[in-house]
Amino acid sequence: MSDNIDPEEIQKFEDMARRWWDPSSEFKPLHAINPLRMGYIADRAAIAGKRALDIGCGGGLLTEALAAAGAETTGIDMGAIPLQVAKLHRHESGLEIDYQMSTAEQFAHTHAGEFDVVTCLEMLEHVPDPGSVIRACARLLKPGGDLFVSTINRNPKSYAFAIVGAEYVLGLLPRGTHDYQKFIRPSELAQSFRDHRFSLQDLTGMTYNPLTGIYRLSRDTDVNYLMHAKYEPELS
Ligand code: SAH
Repeated sequence: MSDNIDPEEIQKFEDMARRWWDPSSEFKPLHAINPLRMGYIADRAAIAGKRALDIGCGGGLLTEALAAAGAETTGIDMGAIPLQVAKLHRHESGLEIDYQMSTAEQFAHTHAGEFDVVTCLEMLEHVPDPGSVIRACARLLKPGGDLFVSTINRNPKSYAFAIVGAEYVLGLLPRGTHDYQKFIRPSELAQSFRDHRFSLQDLTGMTYNPLTGIYRLSRDTDVNYLMHAKYEPELS
């Protein structure tokens, strides 16, 4: 099996990872959206006492939120330094989380059907083949399990906001963080969901107001968005 990894993408996160938990660093946007994302997930799926897997967990922002909400939580990532940072911070937070270096595809081979909730946030736009990750998610989930993904839409507005605005004008993210060609339209993810026996539950936007510096969930899915799908193999 050839690995669905882009080494240059992993390297970008290795280089920044030491500042992952600094809310004024290049990870500021992730800190800002984390409560919104966790609220969205907790509104739509039971978390306490469930088995949760966070794919592309990085330094563990969402992973810790899942564990704090009572899930038996695993985080996987292919970045060595992000995982080191996540493991150190877990002790600081006093949370129990199983962190492992793995791709979604590799993990699906050894942990098929084990999870109630799978999350894959802000990661699909960094892999060569997002559809392959969605296939792995289907394999990892129990029937009826919940999948949450977030990424960036691909259109002129998302180019203007997520690349020109965020990286060049506002300097929210380092230049080169995102590659426009790798952005994903919701319709493309919806097709992957259908291909792998998910039923789409919801699509919600996340918008940033540069004047107030505030992010919120919204109906505007033109730039950042979240999707919720249920793995329902028995329905197809
Ligand atoms: N999901 C986290 C981190 C997003 S940053 C959050 O939203 O807070 C993207 C992360 O994906 C990085 O930590 C990077 O190392 C990881 N990543 C990129 N490609 C990957 C792959 N093929 N397999 C696993 N992790 C990957």
